[in-house]
Amino acid sequence: MYTNAHTHLELSALAEVCPTGQEFGSWLQTMLARRMQLDNATLERGIHKAIEQLQQNQTTTVGDISATRLSIEPLLSSGLAGVVYLEVLGFDPTVALERLSAAQREIDTWRKRETAMKIGLSIHAPYSCAPSLFEAAARWCRAEAVPWAIHIAESPAEVAFLQQGIGSLRELNRRITPHIEWQAPQCSPIAYLERLGVLEAQPVLVHAVQVDAHDLALIAQYDCAVVHCPRSNHNLLCGRMPLEQMLAQGIRVGLGTDSLTSAQSLDMRDEISFAQQLHAYKVAPNIIEQLATQPSILG
Ligand SMILES: [Zn+2]
Repeated sequence: MYTNAHTHLELSALAEVCPTGQEFGSWLQTMLARRMQLDNATLERGIHKAIEQLQQNQTTTVGDISATRLSIEPLLSSGLAGVVYLEVLGFDPTVALERLSAAQREIDTWRKRETAMKIGLSIHAPYSCAPSLFEAAARWCRAEAVPWAIHIAESPAEVAFLQQGIGSLRELNRRITPHIEWQAPQCSPIAYLERLGVLEAQPVLVHAVQVDAHDLALIAQYDCAVVHCPRSNHNLLCGRMPLEQMLAQGIRVGLGTDSLTSAQSLDMRDEISFAQQLHAYKVAPNIIEQLATQPSILG
């Protein structure tokens, strides 16, 4: 009955080795370093265990991000519905566009095997993806009617990266692609997506915590769905999504746990209960419960 609209099942094996409670940029760096230390067999065991947990916890639909591609086959044969989004990232435009072409071929192949579980694309985030990657992905997803998802407006560090070209994510980005120049667009994450023509291709916007009134108006105008992951946002010091303002604007919002590297469980009942406390006296508890049962959010 529940829709867990945002997970990274491939990260489940890192649950015990990835500390939360640190600022987003440093958490991301720790998580990436620890993921490199695990082999595929370990990641696969984590994925199978996570799928069992979802099924035991009355989750019937899932939106999963797959960077390693290891969760695709298990999800297609799991009986779960939803979308598995094949992730692409790259801040060097040449490399990024080559990866996008490769992912498009993969998606075309996997789509022939779709079950209740559909195949989509994920363009990771503004600090890890070239602007031209967003533009090309938007054109393709729109033309091919491929569901897609983006991590956006998640942390204060992401805002600093786009507004001023500074902060922990700029440092990480500079370390990974030192040869790529970055002129900060000096706008909010949501406004950045609009400038690139992304919002009109209606990606699922994952997180959308760091948003102002203008951003909310843009999300509503383009009718993009948003996925709210309150425990992850809380654990990574990202802030509180203005959920009551989103709902007042008529924005479609779903609920997700995010991965076990930033949330304590994949159980939607835990996410609901946390969200009810976080938004107490602003959003009614029964409305939050409804956000957890919306498969149409996934596009
Ligand atoms: Zn995520």
